[in-house]
Order: sequence, then structure tokens, then C-alpha cells
Amino acid sequence: MPVKNRLAEMQAEITKWRRHLHAHPELMYDVHETAGFVVERLKAFGVDEITEGVGKTGVVAVIKGRSDTKGRAIGLRADMDALPIEEATGLDYASTVPGKMHACGHDGHTSMLLGAAQYLAETRNFDGTAVLIFQPAEEGGAGGLAMCQDGLMERWGIQEVYGMHNMPGLPVGEFAIRPGALLASSDEFEITVTGKGGHAAAPHEAVDTTLVASHIVVSLQSVVSRTVDPIKRVVLTVGTFETDSVASNVIAHTVRLKGTVRTLDPEYRAIAEQRVRRIAEDTASAFDASAKVEWTPGYPVTVNSEAETSYAAEAAAAVAGKVNDGTDPIMPSEDFAYMLEERPGAYIFLGNGDTAMCHHPEYNFDDDAIPAGCSWFAEMVERRMPAE
Ligand SMILES: [Zn+2]
Ligand SMILES: [Zn+2]
Repeated sequence: MPVKNRLAEMQAEITKWRRHLHAHPELMYDVHETAGFVVERLKAFGVDEITEGVGKTGVVAVIKGRSDTKGRAIGLRADMDALPIEEATGLDYASTVPGKMHACGHDGHTSMLLGAAQYLAETRNFDGTAVLIFQPAEEGGAGGLAMCQDGLMERWGIQEVYGMHNMPGLPVGEFAIRPGALLASSDEFEITVTGKGGHAAAPHEAVDTTLVASHIVVSLQSVVSRTVDPIKRVVLTVGTFETDSVASNVIAHTVRLKGTVRTLDPEYRAIAEQRVRRIAEDTASAFDASAKVEWTPGYPVTVNSEAETSYAAEAAAAVAGKVNDGTDPIMPSEDFAYMLEERPGAYIFLGNGDTAMCHHPEYNFDDDAIPAGCSWFAEMVERRMPAE
């Protein structure tokens, strides 16, 4: 069975919504206009309940099936926020807001979930409750966590939860998924190395923090190469090395290093933190300097549960004719991970074709992916809660 005919018919209309959202990007929790647009559409479709302000600016909508004999409820999630990037696509519906852009396709995700909402509200061909989740602040603001902390799963009785992200490089309308870890956790660290500044010609009277910090950067490479089991996946990158000296003849007093640790194995988050602290503090101490480490935990590993991954793959195969159900995991992170920590569920990739990568100023969501994406959301509801 291919994409749902009704959703194929609706593609032109859904494309208009997508392009409207694309032209009006909003960041983080400040998605008031986007949430307003979502609510306006949901009202027009005649959904049963709409709740605004969940997790600050998230929206939750309920669509009841024709019957409810088993008390089933399935959550479907889309993200609404854009990125602080200056758009360079030259499209006639490009961002109208300087410095803000839908460069991750969340305009597409929101529009596809709206399309599925319209279809489900019209057809109601299921036994149970579909809960539609429109979240803010996926891009670094943990909007998914904010919604969970606001009681998302309990208040709406969600038993399973499903999400989708477009994927450049995968043919349009095709799907890819895997059970287990799909996307990495992402933690950040900042190391402040303090020594003693001085004249470049008299290093013996100073404690050269540039040298100390350089040893720290080199030693940090041993975390992945010598602490982590070689068959596990961990990446550690020092992205910033900033000294307080702006002159060639001045020894810096402090150096600030900033970096990130990403992994598909949750146990290595704690191990990496311990090693980074130890290496920074003890290396600094060996040179008579000191190091202060600040560790900021970010999104957890996105882990697809086994059974729900196969349900998601079966729905994708029904829509697209085939599915790659053993795709490789990748190292970006995703705050749908928080929802998957609370309920079984799965996250799936939908092909966006041969486009620029997400977060690139020339990226654009491909509207031809809309029928497949909407159909997968609707299919999940109809398959997991079959009509009586
Ligand atoms: Zn993104
Ligand atoms: Zn994204």
C-alpha cells in the first residue's frame, strides 16, 4: 500500500503551510506565531482537544478514534523551532527574518504532523486516542524535556511515542531506522586553565598557560583512544582554545578550552566526564597551574526500543514499499531522546533527497516528502490502534 490518497491530494495545501512557516522562522521557546498557526489549523480540522503552553510554548492536540475499547493512546511528535542562521537559498519563500532560518526542516515536520492531524480528524479510522505533540526548542533548548517535565506522558496517557526527522542524502520518500542507539548524547565542557602571565622573554618567571592547555588538549585525545573500548562509539572534540594574551610577546595568564563529548553508549558519559576532569586538573597541577572544569550535560542518547522500531519500520515499508531497518547510527543529538526515556517508541529518518545538509544556509526541506511523511504518522496510529 503506497502513500494515502487523501494525503497525496493534500500535498499542495500542506506545502503552502510549510512555506509559510519557512518564511517566518522562530527560535527556541519563542515560537508563539508558529504555535498560533498550528492551533489555528488544528481548530479548523475539528480535533477534540487543544492545550497550549505545555513545556512553555508547546502544543498538544488530541484526536479520538471512532471507538476507544482498549484505552490505547499513541503520541506523535514534531518540532517547531528554527536556527540562528542567515538563509542563503534565494528561494521566493525564504526567511523574512534576518539571522533566522528553518535550516533543519522543522517547518516540514510541523506541516507533516498537521497534515496527518487533518487526515486523522477526518477519518478517525482507529480505536483509541492520537496525541499530537508540537514541541519548541529542539535546537539546544531541551523543549522535549520541558514538555515531559510538564507531565506530557502522564497527562495524556501516552503509551508509545514516535518521531521523525528528514534526512538529506536519503532519496525523497524513503525511510531509514534502526533499533537501539540511533543518535548520540551530547555533553559540553569548559576548562579554565589559570597560571601566571608574564613577559615572553622571561618564561621562568611565569606559568605559561598556553603550554599547559596544549598538554591538556593532547592528553584529552587519550580518552577516546585509550579509555574507550575500541568497538564503542565516542567522540571528543576541543572546539575552542582561547587565551587572554593578544600579543606575541605576552605569556597568557588564563586559557579557556571548550569542547564536546558525544557517545552512543550512555555509560561513557560518566566515564568521559571523570577522565576529562582528572586529565585537566592533574596536568595543570604538574605545571604549577590550576584547571577548573565545568561539565554541562546535554541531550541523552536517542534509543529506539526494539518492538516499536519494528512497528515503525513496518508502517514505513507499507508507505514507501521498502525500508532500511538497519541504518547506521549518527553522532548528532536530538531531544526526542527525553521522550524515549519515558516511553517505548521510535525515531525514523525520512529521505530529503540530494540537498545541503541540515544546519547549512542552503538547506531546504523537500515538499515532495510530505505525502510519505504524513502517511507514516497516520499509518502508525491506524496500525497500533486498529479500528474495531
Ligand atoms: Zn537541527
Ligand atoms: Zn532537526
